[in-house]
Amino acid sequence: MDTTKNTPVMRFLTLGGAHVAVMNAPGATSTATHTWQCLGCDQGNDYAQPRTHARQEANRHAAGCRSIPKTTD
Ligand SMILES: [Zn+2]
Repeated sequence: MDTTKNTPVMRFLTLGGAHVAVMNAPGATSTATHTWQCLGCDQGNDYAQPRTHARQEANRHAAGCRSIPKTTD
């Protein structure tokens, strides 16, 4: 697994249809490997944490966030 890139490894859907991405964390350690960010409202956690924690936080955020996908213009 390449943990050097900030690459989404899973996504959750907010109530408004935006994605919440769990990503490989740059500079990950053996236990702190992932971050997450809502791509609708930009909330997230930039600090590397265990994958399970990042997944749980991202899923919890998606369950209550009403943000819609950002416009691209
Ligand atoms: Zn959000």
